[in-house]
Amino acid sequence: MSTSPKLRIAVVGGGIGGLAFAVAISKLNLEEFITVDIYDASTKLSQVGAGIAFFPRGWEIMKHMGLEEDLEAKLPPGQEKPTLDKERLYYQTRKSNQSVGTHISDLKLPGGSVTLHRADVQTILLKHLPTAIRCHLSHRLKGYVETNEGIRLNFENGRTVLCDLMIGADGLHSATRKTLLSEGKNWTEQEAIQQSRPLWTGVHVYRYVADAALIRQVCPENRALSKVMLYCGKNKHIVAFPMRQGELVNIVLCISNPGQEGTYVDGPTVTEATQDDIADLFEGWEEDVQVLVKNTLKPSRWAIQYVKPLDRYVSQSGRVILLGDAAHATGPFFANGGGLAIEDAFFLANIIGKAIKAQESTIDVPKIARIYNEVRQPFCNSKAAGSLELVRHYQFLEPGFEEYGDGVDLPAEKVSELAKLLAESVAWTVDSVKLDLERALALW
Ligand SMILES: Cc1cc2nc3c(=O)[nH]c(=O)nc-3n(C[C@H](O)[C@H](O)[C@H](O)COP(=O)(O)OP(=O)(O)OC[C@H]3O[C@@H](n4cnc5c(N)ncnc54)[C@H](O)[C@@H]3O)c2cc1C
Repeated sequence: MSTSPKLRIAVVGGGIGGLAFAVAISKLNLEEFITVDIYDASTKLSQVGAGIAFFPRGWEIMKHMGLEEDLEAKLPPGQEKPTLDKERLYYQTRKSNQSVGTHISDLKLPGGSVTLHRADVQTILLKHLPTAIRCHLSHRLKGYVETNEGIRLNFENGRTVLCDLMIGADGLHSATRKTLLSEGKNWTEQEAIQQSRPLWTGVHVYRYVADAALIRQVCPENRALSKVMLYCGKNKHIVAFPMRQGELVNIVLCISNPGQEGTYVDGPTVTEATQDDIADLFEGWEEDVQVLVKNTLKPSRWAIQYVKPLDRYVSQSGRVILLGDAAHATGPFFANGGGLAIEDAFFLANIIGKAIKAQESTIDVPKIARIYNEVRQPFCNSKAAGSLELVRHYQFLEPGFEEYGDGVDLPAEKVSELAKLLAESVAWTVDSVKLDLERALALW
C-alpha cells in the first residue's frame, strides 16, 4: 500500500487520444498511485458521423487493451481483424480521371486494413472507461500555469484545477500547445495564438457518408462497397470505404489547391456543402466515382490543416505532455492520425506504469516526459510529413508524374513506380508496436 499522495493526472480532451490514454492506463491497475480526470470542452462526447480506418499497429493496441471483441463486432461484412499471419488488401488504387479507369495497385500487406464508424470506436472506448476516471464536460481549457503546488489548469467556465501531470489531448487547435509553445517567450496572447495556429495543407476535403443500398442499386459492382478504394487523378483523389457492417459508405473527396500548402485558413475551416458544390468536380471520371459523387448525404467541406512540426511534445518542466493531433495533426491522408493518437496514448500509459513499478520514492514525471518525447516526437513528426507526401503520390504531383492529367493513361513503368512508392510509404503501419514499446521501456 502506497503512503505517498497519489499522482494527479489531468487529461485535457476526450477524443480518441484522450480516451485511449484513459483506457490504457486503467488496464494497468494503478489506482493506488494515480487519479485520472478528463476535461473536455464539449457538452457531450461525440464524433463526426464518419469513418475511420485501422491498421495492424492501432488494432494491436486496441486488442492489448481488451477491445478487440467489441471492435470486431462492428466490422463490415468480408473484413477480418488485421492479424499479421496473412497478407490482405490494404487498399486498391486506380487512375480514375478518365471515362474508363485503370488499375494501379492492390496494396497488400500483412494484416491489411479495417474500417469502422468513429462513433462506434468512441462508444467502445467509453464502455471500457472505469467509473473511477471522471469525465468533466463543458470544460474548455484557456491555458495553464505551472506553480509550486502543481499545474493550474484554467477553464473558460471559471474553474481552476490543480494536477501533477497534464496531458494535452485537445486536438488540432490545442490550447495546451499554445501555452506550451509560449514557455520562456514574452508573447502576447495574440502572438501565442498565431505561433501555435495550424497551417493549411492546401487541400479541401468534402466528407460525407452514403447509403450503401442506394449505391448498390445503381452500381452493384461499385468497388467501395466492399473495400478501401483510392481513386486518383490530377490534383484530386477520393477515398471511399464501407463501414457500419456494410450499411454505409464513407466518402472523402480531396481537392488540392496548388501553391497553398503552408498558408493560413481565414474564416471557418468546416462549412456545410451541397450536392451542387460537388457535382462538377469529377466530371469525366470513371463510373464508380460518378456514383459516389451523386449519392452525397449532407456533405461538409473541410480545409485540412496540420500542426507545424514541433521540436518537442513536452514542456520544459516535463509536467505537461502533448499527444495525438495536439502534437502532430496531419489530416486524413494516411488515415492514421487516430492510430497515432492511440499509439501515443498507449506508450505514455505504459511509460507511466514503468515509472510507478520502478518503486522510487516519488514518481519521476520529468523522466516520463523525456522518454515519451524521445520515442514519440521523431517518429510522429516523420509520419506526419509522410502523410503530406502521400497526397502528392495520389494526385500525380511528384516529379516525373506531371504529364498524367485527365484522360492520359499511366504507362506500365509509371504504374509500377507509383505502386512501389505507395507500398513503401505505408509499410511501417504493419510493424508491431511491441518492439518499439520494449525499446521505450528499456530507456527507464
Ligand atoms: C477528414 C478526416 C478523415 C480522417 N480519417 C482518419 C482515418 O481514417 N483514420 C485515422 O486514424 N485518422 C483519421 N483522421 C485523423 C483523426 O481524425 C485524428 O488524428 C484524431 O481524431 C486525433 O485524435 P485526438 O484525440 O488527438 O483529437 P480529437 O479527436 O480532435 O479530440 C480532441 C478533443 O479535445 C477536445 N478539446 C478541444 N479543445 C479543447 C479545449 N480547449 N479544452 C478542452 N477540450 C478541448 C475536443 O472537444 C475533442 O473531444 C482523419 C481526419 C480528418 C480531418
